Amino acid sequence: MHNKHPNDRANLQHAIDAASTSASQGGIPIGAALVFDVAGENLLLTTGYNRHLQTGASAHHAESDAFLILTRALDSLQQRQGDNNNDDDGDDENAKVRAKLEHILHTRGVQLKDLYGHLTLYTTMSPCPNCAKEAIASQVRRVVVGDNKTYFGNEKMLVDAGIEVVTMQTDSCVQLINQFVDSRPDIAQQIGVQKVQL
Ligand SMILES: [Zn+2]
Repeated sequence: MHNKHPNDRANLQHAIDAASTSASQGGIPIGAALVFDVAGENLLLTTGYNRHLQTGASAHHAESDAFLILTRALDSLQQRQGDNNNDDDGDDENAKVRAKLEHILHTRGVQLKDLYGHLTLYTTMSPCPNCAKEAIASQVRRVVVGDNKTYFGNEKMLVDAGIEVVTMQTDSCVQLINQFVDSRPDIAQQIGVQKVQL
């Protein structure tokens, strides 16, 4: 029911790297990754990180960032499929994600509408209720959580919705938050994250 997959540790590292990127920008160190990891494929589609402090938008969470990038790529893919003369490639990141989606569609026979059911959401921290809702609405197959001690989100909501939830308890996720709490105790208190002894 809650089985770790061989690729989970490596895939979670993509989310940790995204969290580190946010930290390097003075942001809240929470990262996420969306990975297509079925049918013998293990393909990183998007990563995202919390941009609350960078943008001032408190709702800009790591998971919603990763979902947003994927949604944009899906939209542009559908636009291109509907209009062969459309030569608007969008930005580089969008084009890269779109190329990966085209690979999945063409080599794995996955329909666009079924894509999310083949995805695992990796997140360095237990998802907040809003991100849990987004994962449920998207119908991702699995959610792998790097740490749920610095913040305990709404994992039960995910499980109740039939999503497989795996918790890794990874020290590097905790260390990023511990460092953040030390440097920005005001923000840490505001968003409800706490230090955890390793
Ligand atoms: Zn969230």
